[in-house]
This record gives sequence, structure tokens and C-alpha cells, in this order.
Amino acid sequence: MVDERRYSIFDEKILRDELDALHANPVHIDSTWRFILAHKNAEAYDTPDLPLRVRTLFSTKFKTMTSYVHTQHDSLDGRTTKLLIKFQNGLSAEAVIIRHDSSAGKYAGGPRTGAARATLCVSSQVGCKMGCTFCATGTMGFKGNLSAGEIVEQLVHASQITSIRNVVFMGMGEPMNNYFAVVQAVKTMTGRCFQLSRKHITVSTVGIIPKIIALKADLPDVSLAISLHAPTQELRAEIVPAARSFPLSKLIAAVDAYLVGSKSTVFMEYVMLAAVNDGQEHAHQMGKLLNGRKVVVNLIPYNPTTVTMQFKASGSTEVLKFQKILKEVYGIRTTVRQEMGQDIDGACGQLHVSHLSNKPSRPNSTVLDIEDLGLIK
Ligand code: SF4
Repeated sequence: MVDERRYSIFDEKILRDELDALHANPVHIDSTWRFILAHKNAEAYDTPDLPLRVRTLFSTKFKTMTSYVHTQHDSLDGRTTKLLIKFQNGLSAEAVIIRHDSSAGKYAGGPRTGAARATLCVSSQVGCKMGCTFCATGTMGFKGNLSAGEIVEQLVHASQITSIRNVVFMGMGEPMNNYFAVVQAVKTMTGRCFQLSRKHITVSTVGIIPKIIALKADLPDVSLAISLHAPTQELRAEIVPAARSFPLSKLIAAVDAYLVGSKSTVFMEYVMLAAVNDGQEHAHQMGKLLNGRKVVVNLIPYNPTTVTMQFKASGSTEVLKFQKILKEVYGIRTTVRQEMGQDIDGACGQLHVSHLSNKPSRPNSTVLDIEDLGLIK
């Protein structure tokens, strides 16, 4: 059987190498991408003024899009849109658009275009092998890495719905376990065609220390988000199994190294789990752990899903007490993430693809850490 899979035209490294091999001008990369973005359903090989050999290359080795939006769900308030994207190998992942413009709360219909400050949460893998205990994606197991082109295509799909300013790698998967594709995708997103600012890109990790160090060199100025979730090694190892390989003391040392001479922000993500990590003693432990460091703590209300039943969400009183201790006792900048998209399972910790359906995916839903960096900078 012939494998008809072809490279994504947004797989920049492969595209550049193939053009080099033909001694073709790389200027065709940007002109082709701009043409595709400006003309929905256009084919790359139809880009005006392409030499014949480039046109032939595009039609034989590449696909204009290797993925499509299988389903789109809009939250009732119109602020969140979840896209279930199907790839040419049959696997699917989810991307979530979060709108933060001031009129968002007034909207009660379908998606709008032109929102001023939309954030896109992209997936870097299908499933995940890290097994964080509160995470719906972790229950899927690992199904596969996405290519750089497949990651960029999530931005292409989202850009056809609304204008995207921020991209966060907090969807399905551990980005550092697909490091080279993630780095390549960020370079493309921040290049001359898409023109996103590196300051508006955030890469999340459970704490893969060697890749945190590498990221600083490879993508200076992107923001880093650490899925911390516990203030001590013992508790963290229970919630985030990867902590057994990457202990908290070494992780904090890696964060310190990342911050030296860097203009980027480090976010500490902390999902609030009732009677597990939300006590005042935990807040003091966090305060002491992070004291004096230029980090932002992001407290995330836990989103219960039917695939991860073992935890309950902390009450708002506990969350606010926790925040108060960090801010007032330790002077640590601390935000409480807005809960958005719960009605479509597009909120943090809810991304989970167990099947393809035309119905809203609740309760078998999606995984994620949603962040609008614009709100807290
Ligand atoms: S929280 Fe992130 S790293 Fe952990 S299992 Fe879920 S997707 Fe993987």
C-alpha cells in the first residue's frame, strides 16, 4: 500500500532543505505561506510566480494542510473555542482559543472574528506519557509526537477564526518531550510571516531540566511555565510523577539559571486540589521556596473531569487565602486563573480525546493550562 502522507508546507526546516536542494530561492517560503493565509482552501502550488520546479515540489512532496478541523465547539459565553484537529495519520489533538477582549462577556452566539487579544493553546503531542495525576490527557497514554508543521497548522486553523496574539504550549502533551518540533514551530510562528512576538509565546513543562536549559539558548525571550503543583518534593512526586526523575531542588536551580540575564517571565502553575495542596501551610512552603525569585505564581482552579475522579476543586476561600499569603507575606506576584471554557471541556486539565464525535466532547474531553499572558503583564 502506498503511503500518501506528505510533509506539511508549514514544516519550515524540511521545506527549506528541499528548496535548497533545488537551488531555489527561499523567498518562496514566505510568499507561499502568505498566499495560503490570505486565501482559505488555496493550494500552495497555486502561489503566483513560483518557478515550475518549486510548483512541482509543492505538489509532490508537500501538502498545503495535513490536518483539518474535525469539530469546533464554542462556549456559551463565546470566549472559548475548542478545535478538535485531525491529522493525516488519523490521530487527533485539540487546540483552544481564548478571547480576552472586553466585549467577550456580552457575547452569547458563535465565534467572533477580530477579537483583540486572543490566546491560542496548542498541543505538541497526541496524549502524554508523563501521567500527572490530575490531568485528563495523562490518562490517554502517549500516542505520538506532532511535527513542527502540525503544530503550526493549529495556528493557521485558529487564525482563520480569529486574530491570535499569544500562543501557549499548554495543550496536550509535554512540549519538552517533543523539543525539536516545538522549537522549530516557535521559530516559524515568530518569523516574518506569522510575526508573533516571542514575548507572547509560553512553553510549559513539568520540569524536564536539560530542556529548560536548552530552551534559554534556543529561544531566548519566550516565557517558561513550570507545572509545579506542590511546594515540596514529597508531595510533588505524588502529584507529578516526573518529579521523581527531576527533583524539586534541581528544578528550582534550573529556573534560577533560566532567569539569569533573561527578560522572559517564568510562571509557576499550581492547580488547586482540595485538601491535597491548598492548605495555608502549603502556601507558606511555596512562599519560602520561591522567595526572592522573579516568578509569577498562577493558581489554577481544578476542573473536575470524569476521567480523573480522585480530586476535588479547592473552594474559592482556600484559593484566595493561598493567594493572600503568597502576595502579602512573601511579595510574590500571584494570579488566579479565570475559569473559562468549562462547558466545552476546554479548561485547564480537561483536554482529552478519547473518540471523535460531532457532539460536544464532555465528559470525555480535553487537557490544558490556559493562560492569557496579556492579562498579567
Ligand atoms: S499535565 Fe501536561 S505533562 Fe502532565 S500528563 Fe497532562 S499533558 Fe502531560
